[in-house]
Amino acid sequence: MKLNQRGLLIVISGPSGVGKGTVRRALFEMKNHNLVYSVSMTTRQPRPGEVDGKDYYFVDRETFQKNIENDQFLEYAEFVGNYYGTPKDKVEEALDNGKEVVLEIEVEGALQVREKTKDAVFIFIAPPSKKALYERLSKRGTEDKALIDKRFAKAEKEFDLAYKYDYIVVNDEVNNAADRIMAIIRAEHARTERT
Ligand code: 5GP
Repeated sequence: MKLNQRGLLIVISGPSGVGKGTVRRALFEMKNHNLVYSVSMTTRQPRPGEVDGKDYYFVDRETFQKNIENDQFLEYAEFVGNYYGTPKDKVEEALDNGKEVVLEIEVEGALQVREKTKDAVFIFIAPPSKKALYERLSKRGTEDKALIDKRFAKAEKEFDLAYKYDYIVVNDEVNNAADRIMAIIRAEHARTERT
């Protein structure tokens, strides 16, 4: 019996380069789920292959600032020189319609959501090791070394906040990590009377 009709908010977070996006995509490829992805807004330039409205809403700083002023974000953060934020209305609407909304965001934003929202599950994706993370950041090949080092330095700080999450999932292998996240979501349904 489903006593709680509102959808579950699922916050997937962790350091840059840990493979959050890959794990999230594997999660969405699984069968029989009711998940929707919350597309974020960012001032970062699109990477090759990224599509506006699908990967991000790509906007300039002025537009982003206006959205901050109009209280349009559930959370937002500045990350290595660019803004990233979660549009609030779309998330609320999907949750009200009983959808499970997945946010894939960095740590500072996740902790803002934690303060605002009781009804959410927070999952920290960790790399198998720091060395593995550095290698992944380097291999991506879309950024120069200075930026990679910046992202890695930021990641080291983010590890220290993992204890604030409900669950830690090590991304040793993408499909394993996605399986574990699905198991967490199912357990959370049972715990919050959504089953
Ligand atoms: P990237 O530039 O690699 O796409 O993203 C940089 C970081 O920003 C990643 O850790 C990503 O998860 C995070 N991010 C993406 N969207 C949002 C958002 O809406 N809010 C916050 N706080 N972080 C985000």
